[in-house]
Amino acid sequence: QEEWPRPKACRVMTVANQKGGVGKTTTTVNLAVSLALHGNRVMVVDLDPQGNASTALGVDHHADVPSIYHCLVEGRPLAEVAVEVEGIPNLLCVPATIDLAGAEIELVSLVARESRLRRACEAYDSDELDYILIDCPPSLGLLTVNAMVAGSEVLIPIQCEYYALEGLGQLLRNVELVQAHLNPELQISTILLTMYDGRTRLAQQVADEVRSHFGELVLSTVIPRSVRVSEAPSYGQSVITYDPGSTGALAYKDAAKEMAYQNSGQVQPAGTEENQ
Ligand code: ADP
Ligand code: MG
Repeated sequence: QEEWPRPKACRVMTVANQKGGVGKTTTTVNLAVSLALHGNRVMVVDLDPQGNASTALGVDHHADVPSIYHCLVEGRPLAEVAVEVEGIPNLLCVPATIDLAGAEIELVSLVARESRLRRACEAYDSDELDYILIDCPPSLGLLTVNAMVAGSEVLIPIQCEYYALEGLGQLLRNVELVQAHLNPELQISTILLTMYDGRTRLAQQVADEVRSHFGELVLSTVIPRSVRVSEAPSYGQSVITYDPGSTGALAYKDAAKEMAYQNSGQVQPAGTEENQ
């Protein structure tokens, strides 16, 4: 596998959109696996009580497993709960269990309730990591706020469908609020168009609208709708390993490569994007 550039400092990226089913988890998992397979050291933090990212990476997340809940609520170090993802060198996952469903309430009464994840990430030796990708639940509650306080980048997956832009205003306002009060470093750094169906005019219109609004924050790679992408999690795999030659896998690899070259000071070699 070719090596992609590695960032000078660990990039902590929150993958957020309060809508469910837009591809947050799929994006987190497939970008993480792609980056790891190309020489970056990556940690996925599963911050959704459903634990879908843990499932998709084949990581055990039954109720008794040490998880992100223990880091947030009990202050347990990330290093103690992170597990290696089988078959993917350089990839760690901090699983989420159903305990996390209660954390949103439990956190309310804790000190520094918005910065528990930030503390956990800071305590981790981030010289050992190039990326921390945080998979958020479909809400803008304290868990998502913790993610936005922990890092400086927000990645928003946007599904190319009719209601795609509805609710986005609320997400952007929340980013601004966190910026203003809790984390001045926070920026929307990346938008990824997901589940694109090139046969419909609507998908094209949504994509155009998103590009005209967000400009170069939008990755030029678009993720197509593909059955292989949706099958992979039930095998405890990313589509990158499940079916590496599929359109979904190639697109996620291209998207990850674009991300790796963002602000890297290096120019991405031309003619390598298979998904144009
Ligand atoms: P979220 O985390 O935002 O709720 P998911 O990543 O879980 O969204 O995706 C929602 C559903 O859509 C899942 O069943 C997933 O497998 C499926 N899916 C995601 N991306 C694609 C795609 N590109 N093509 C087909 N199905 C997809
Ligand atoms: Mg999800």
